Amino acid sequence: MPKTVLLCVDCEGSREQILRVARAFESHGVAATFFFTGETAASYPDVVRDIARTHCVNSHTQSHANLRRLTKTRQRQEILNGRDTVEAILGAAARGFRAPYHAINRDTVNILNEEGFRFDVSGLYYRYNMGRVIEIRPSWFREWTGLYDWLHLPARTGWDIPRLLFPFLNPLVLPVHPHYTGRDDAFTAAMGRFIRFARRRSARFLTIAEHLRAQVPVVGPAS
Ligand SMILES: [Zn+2]
Repeated sequence: MPKTVLLCVDCEGSREQILRVARAFESHGVAATFFFTGETAASYPDVVRDIARTHCVNSHTQSHANLRRLTKTRQRQEILNGRDTVEAILGAAARGFRAPYHAINRDTVNILNEEGFRFDVSGLYYRYNMGRVIEIRPSWFREWTGLYDWLHLPARTGWDIPRLLFPFLNPLVLPVHPHYTGRDDAFTAAMGRFIRFARRRSARFLTIAEHLRAQVPVVGPAS
């Protein structure tokens, strides 16, 4: 069975960082799923529309709030304002979601169901019955932590981790942060080496929408 890699990009970085990551993907001919905060999308609507021509665009709350610290009413405002901003810029529906800090709770899951979201790429630490929302669980944490600096390891270290995970996970779901990977060419080069590594092993890089379309429907036991 061919390996599928889903690149999921959190967009709360600068315009230059977001575009550097997008152009790096495009130089390798891969498509990714970008999640914009409403505030970032409103700051660079041209970037959102540019990226949507090649990639899939969804939302990442309005202001990058930690949803677990909010009441259900405030959570709903954050989630819907973010989605409305992104959809107004795209002129199309954007029914995928990714929470900041992987932080969701039961209220978040209920809101995603009540408001017609299709998939969620948040759950890393917290596990809930997702109802009708399709859960895409990230396979690792992030491409950079202060730990690498502290250990005097180079920037590319974070992009070595997916190589170690590659044989064991399908799909391999990789969060990408433009404020790390988009900050200089050493990071995008390290990401490019991972993409070539996966390609040599026949991996397919899909957007989440493409991945869901490619899924073979699960047929349950006859009742
Ligand atoms: Zn984020």
